Amino acid sequence: MTTTAPAPTSELSTDDVQDAGHVDVLVVGAGVSGIGAAHHLRERFPDRSFVLLEAQDNHGGTWWTHRYPGVRSDSDLFTYGYRHKPWRGPSIAAGGEIMNYLDEVIEEEQLAPHIRYRHQATAARWSSQDRRWEVEVTRADTGERLRWTTDFLWMCQGYYNHTKPYQPQWEGMDRFSGLVVHPQSWPQDLDLTGKRVVVIGSGSTAATLIPAIAQEAEHVTMLQRSPSYFLAPPLTHELAVTLRALDIPEDWTHEILRRAYSAQFNELARMSHEAPDELHAFLMESLTPLLPEGFDVEKHFTPRYRPWQQRIAIVPEGDLFAALREGKASIVTDTIDTFTETGIRVASGEELEADVVVTATGFDLSAFGDVAFTVDGEPVDFPSRVTWRGIMISGVPNMAYVFGYFRHSWTLRADLVSDLVVRMMSLMQEKGASTVVPTLRPEDAGMQLRPWSDPENFNAGYVLRSQHVLFKQGDREPWTHMMEHAPEAELLPKADLEDGSLAFS
Ligand SMILES: Cc1cc2nc3c(=O)[nH]c(=O)nc-3n(C[C@H](O)[C@H](O)[C@H](O)COP(=O)(O)OP(=O)(O)OC[C@H]3O[C@@H](n4cnc5c(N)ncnc54)[C@H](O)[C@@H]3O)c2cc1C
Repeated sequence: MTTTAPAPTSELSTDDVQDAGHVDVLVVGAGVSGIGAAHHLRERFPDRSFVLLEAQDNHGGTWWTHRYPGVRSDSDLFTYGYRHKPWRGPSIAAGGEIMNYLDEVIEEEQLAPHIRYRHQATAARWSSQDRRWEVEVTRADTGERLRWTTDFLWMCQGYYNHTKPYQPQWEGMDRFSGLVVHPQSWPQDLDLTGKRVVVIGSGSTAATLIPAIAQEAEHVTMLQRSPSYFLAPPLTHELAVTLRALDIPEDWTHEILRRAYSAQFNELARMSHEAPDELHAFLMESLTPLLPEGFDVEKHFTPRYRPWQQRIAIVPEGDLFAALREGKASIVTDTIDTFTETGIRVASGEELEADVVVTATGFDLSAFGDVAFTVDGEPVDFPSRVTWRGIMISGVPNMAYVFGYFRHSWTLRADLVSDLVVRMMSLMQEKGASTVVPTLRPEDAGMQLRPWSDPENFNAGYVLRSQHVLFKQGDREPWTHMMEHAPEAELLPKADLEDGSLAFS
């Protein structure tokens, strides 16, 4: 096992930065992706040293940041859980249950000594002379600055800013006398008993939060500019119930359910491309019987985009609709004109009285955890770079990143990416190479560049708002980032790492 060694001299070192030593692999982020990456590293290279840097005071990433009432997955946990660790709970899980699962992985794989909490990576500098990265870190608790060196940097920082949510400003917000809260920074002592609550937003967060607070609040209004697609599956798949009743080994049940759910999602993806109208009709028909009599489905539940152009929000057992039927919640589809002293006035002139306004307005996308990258002293300008299979970036040596699926379970892709990264590390070892850099081949010269995420295919607000700060994709393999699991699960395990697009030295 490689342990610490003095950091190499570098023109960018500064005196007040303490040397933290050297590791073979440095992972940034201890969420689902970082913990998964550590598992794959451990399994394939038990002797390599590694550290996970985590800016927050706990692991879990998304599931630690988001602790609003009712927070839960949209995905089934058989595919959201790791391939190697069976999921034993209900298909759709609460945030706390996902945290428990991640705790178990950390315990079983003895990862705790490898995680450095409150360590925010701020800069990463590649030196071709030293053939390693120098990563600068600020400690949130002491303010100290530290410097690690590493042979390989594995970015598992997720896709959004964990400290600053996306918070649009509306006219009159400053005169509102009630409380405005964002689910990403939910006050744990907030008591909504008897309060009138307006939740701004139409996505999963709003749909999850509303049934969770509807009983204690006096009334909850979901205020949406435009509707989203919903599906209301059972909390647990009937197949899981059957297999468990038969006492089938948990790892079999896990694999069978992974296949069952993947097949469902692949069918949704297929229909969205080949039969979008049929899929739309199916989603609408499944919804209508769950809504109160005479509900205006056209106005409140008919999205303006094609199904699958955004993630479909899951409401297990239709709990959001139950809150609507009981009269504990209602929906207003309109735009905000202004906040008033006592609530919100919408464009139609209707006044929504509120004690608390929840802005379930989403995220601010963050490119690579806001780490400032340089290669041999030159800042990396990501918008002018091209992704290599949605895993590495052209011209950036020894750096891989994990970006999961937006519409399938994130972790399905995180596992596939990790498989490929450790395969690439093995190839480096075989070749005696210490550097790997995605490099455009002569035949890629003049390749047409496109946004990293095609807005025709996926048009969620947080992606569209941030395309300009992100890298590009090309018009051919391997310079693309795939969004669908079925084709990628075929392609990635067989991907030729010696097709000339990776320069090893
Ligand atoms: C409420 C909510 C529900 C969701 N539900 C689902 C779902 O059901 N299914 C699904 O597939 N996806 C879902 N997602 C998307 C979710 O973000 C991913 O599934 C997944 O959790 C991402 O894991 P990650 O480890 O890649 O990133 P994150 O969970 O974002 O974790 C990244 C970690 O890296 C740390 N970090 C970032 N930058 C730095 C830095 N510079 N230095 C040190 N540490 C850093 C962060 O503090 C964070 O802890 C949901 C997202 C939200 C917000």
